[in-house]
Amino acid sequence: MSPLFIANWKMQLSDVASVALAQEARALAHDAVTLVLCPSFNALADVAVAIAGSDIALGAQDCAWEERGALTGEVSPEDLKQLGCTYVLVGHSERRRELGETDALVGKKLRAACAAGLMPVLCVGEDAAERAAGKRGAVIARQCSAGFDAVADLRPSEILVAYEPVWAIGTGVSAAPEDAAAAAVSIAALAASHDIHARVLYGGSVDADSVGAFMARKEIAGVLVGTASQTATGLRDMIVALQAVT
Ligand code: PEP
Repeated sequence: MSPLFIANWKMQLSDVASVALAQEARALAHDAVTLVLCPSFNALADVAVAIAGSDIALGAQDCAWEERGALTGEVSPEDLKQLGCTYVLVGHSERRRELGETDALVGKKLRAACAAGLMPVLCVGEDAAERAAGKRGAVIARQCSAGFDAVADLRPSEILVAYEPVWAIGTGVSAAPEDAAAAAVSIAALAASHDIHARVLYGGSVDADSVGAFMARKEIAGVLVGTASQTATGLRDMIVALQAVT
């Protein structure tokens, strides 16, 4: 199975810039890498057109926790599917931190994503204080359990979990690959105890120089990348580096 490279463009790129970068990605895409582009909501429709007919997949950065409802400003997972999304991030730490998303809400989003037939990417990870207090395992277990409990009865064939230590996101300091691999083992084991098959990604300041060390770990199925995926040069270097390790 080729490694997953999920590009999280956050709110960094306009619609025009997102389409231009998607066109670059299309020119660079390679069988050796499963590339998923996650532009902001406003760019999803145009990026879908830009990658139509290619092997590049489309993902959203978030979704609502219900299929329909009086939820002003929210985006239905059903509508994301209609737009051409096959993946959706849920529980990104920026949303947990900036918007107060709780484990319970993230669990409901995970459930809504699965119910809509999207492949969810549940983002989990400890912050700097939790890390310093030696709580990494407990935080990951709490966040994952809330998600797995919320979907267990839906029996999803597979879900993706991104281990993203908060202190590593956008800081230029990534986790040690052996620590990421250890987290991946415990996440996969916890998922298995809920009868769920999870593939685990690592995210947090991955770049073209570091991606090889993460992909060398068989426990890690791919990477979730913010900063290094948001320019044509960064995207190209990442794809070249991933091709070299597959
Ligand atoms: C992210 O936002 O999920 C992320 C991993 O960002 P960065 O690669 O910039 O650390």
